[in-house]
Amino acid sequence: MLSTLFLLAACTGNKSETSQVSSEPDIPDSTFQYKVDRFADVEILRYYVHGFKTLPLAQKELIYYLSQAALEGRDILFDQHNRYNLTIRRVCEGVYENYMGDKSSEDWKNFETYLKQIWMANGIHHHYSEDKIMPKFSQNYFVSIVKGVDPGRMPFRDGMAADETLKEIMPIMFDTKVMPKRMNQAAGADIVATSAVNFYEGVTQKEVEDFYNAMKDPNDNTPVSYGLNSKVVKKDGAVVEQVWKLGGMYDKAIERIVGWLEKAVGVAENEQQKEVINSLISYYKSGDLKTFDDYSVKWVTDTVSRVDFINGFIETYTDPLGMKATWESVVNFKSEEASKRTQLISDNAQWFETNSPIDNKFKKEEVKGVSAKVITAAILGGDCYPATPIGINLPNANWIRRDHGSKSVTIDNITSAYDAAAQGSGFNEEFMWSDAERELSKKYGSLTDNLHTDLHECLGHGSGKLLPGVDSDALKAYGSPLEETRADLFALYYLGDAKMVELGLLPDADSYKASYYKYIMNGSMTQLTRVQLGKDIEQAHMRNRAIISNWVIENGKAENVVEMKQRDGKTFIVVNDYAKLRNLFGKLLSEVQRIKSEGDFEAAKKLVETYGVKVNQTLHKEILDRYAKLDLAPYKGFVNPVYKLVTDKNGKVTDITISYDENYIEQHLRYSKQYSVLPLKN
Ligand code: ZN
Repeated sequence: MLSTLFLLAACTGNKSETSQVSSEPDIPDSTFQYKVDRFADVEILRYYVHGFKTLPLAQKELIYYLSQAALEGRDILFDQHNRYNLTIRRVCEGVYENYMGDKSSEDWKNFETYLKQIWMANGIHHHYSEDKIMPKFSQNYFVSIVKGVDPGRMPFRDGMAADETLKEIMPIMFDTKVMPKRMNQAAGADIVATSAVNFYEGVTQKEVEDFYNAMKDPNDNTPVSYGLNSKVVKKDGAVVEQVWKLGGMYDKAIERIVGWLEKAVGVAENEQQKEVINSLISYYKSGDLKTFDDYSVKWVTDTVSRVDFINGFIETYTDPLGMKATWESVVNFKSEEASKRTQLISDNAQWFETNSPIDNKFKKEEVKGVSAKVITAAILGGDCYPATPIGINLPNANWIRRDHGSKSVTIDNITSAYDAAAQGSGFNEEFMWSDAERELSKKYGSLTDNLHTDLHECLGHGSGKLLPGVDSDALKAYGSPLEETRADLFALYYLGDAKMVELGLLPDADSYKASYYKYIMNGSMTQLTRVQLGKDIEQAHMRNRAIISNWVIENGKAENVVEMKQRDGKTFIVVNDYAKLRNLFGKLLSEVQRIKSEGDFEAAKKLVETYGVKVNQTLHKEILDRYAKLDLAPYKGFVNPVYKLVTDKNGKVTDITISYDENYIEQHLRYSKQYSVLPLKN
């Protein structure tokens, strides 16, 4: 269940600086602008939908309806992240659009930044660190601007006055002790009761675990993803689920989503795609998780349609128990030329599985249905917006992956936007040991990055198997980072394999070194630019990279494989033996696979807590100081393009236009009007 999603997502600053973005004939040069906005720790970029204009009309229309369905779920995600998010966002937007007072003050600028941060995080907690975003303006100032707007223009909940609303949201916004963390994973805490996510209310971790354990049948070979689409609450003393479905929780937004999906059915490319969309609609109507599995099987086996999409409650990274899924959507179409690379990898999937350095009893005898493609994203929605993955592998249900395989994508146009924005940042000059590493990165950085994503998503997540009877949730909160660790190690191990050159995926036997160096540098040092001084590493992918990097440094000490060296008071990574480093990756992969296959919770806990959580404070401060001098934003988000239907006199669709002129603020204010139908309390 716990696998997938964004590997190097927003791995900014550390992208290669050389890759050129090829100019696309369907994008006018004058709009070739990647950087859109900059605030707090975020830079907003624009991505381009290469090739959209030349798609057949029916496919454009399909993308249009699916993109509308993708945008309708935005408010679901806000509410899932915290039950006060929608109220706070709407009050702030009401002020932002209607306040007539001084807008040149420092306070106002800080208020504007706060609102931009809320949009970026889909709520008041940071999208990556999970910490509550603290406003840089005072409570008094906030009261003054809220009361400074004509109440008739403010979106207060029915019958509530400004005072009542403020009383409700002020502690949530300003009190550091109230709901400080979206997802709390601290060992020993009641991670359900202390997390601010809206997946649980009035229940303890033990009550939730008992509730779901009672449902699980250890002999069920094809279990549903328990708890995936519901909130758990207490009603009349009993623990119950509120299901997210038509007629249930989030009814209004789901009704809209279903409406657009029904239109999409009418222009589907083929019968199978029609069935895929229809079974998704049935699932939204019933909330039945068996129907969701049914849909997932149909979706994963559709490998012929050009246009594809994700839409629904998919990833469980934000639930401390790893069961509840946030709402997300990506609409995309296949990039035919670039997909030849991933085709080659999936054609050889069995070879990779058979030759992997793990114990034979944990290997898949037969690798099924690994399909991989390179895609162009057409719209990002829910938990894929504004921050977005660059690779996705689905579905998450282990038994579907075992019996039907998985679909794996690398998102080309997002990666190229990152690359373009990172050019000339000065990052490699500051953090890499010497010109040798910089040259490697220049020459092979982009290539090996993309290949890493392909291998991670297409083969890594899909490899290996659980021993019979092992619960796929056995590793609990450690399952998510270790699943990423496993997929990354699989990719790293094979990047250094002669097979890569033999298949023509890498040009020579040196190229993999670029990815090895960058990986260890990032995992042990530079990713710390995304963690506040004094804090632990929280995010699953970051924990994974820290585990791998710190583990190989430690375990390679005796043979001096890789080390941290000092020069002019600065710390650098130096790799002394790349071949031995590869062996270490293989060794750790073997152990992580064993932990997963056997469901060894204690070993998982030890590995994550030893290498993936705590940060060396002296090193952390040094990295932050060096990074600050470069003046780069550690996080990236995106704005979407705007699609418009063109119709003739009779209302017949004749074209769909795409434009790239909406800025960050305009886009969010528009989304908040056009796609916002949820009531203020769910
Ligand atoms: Zn992954």
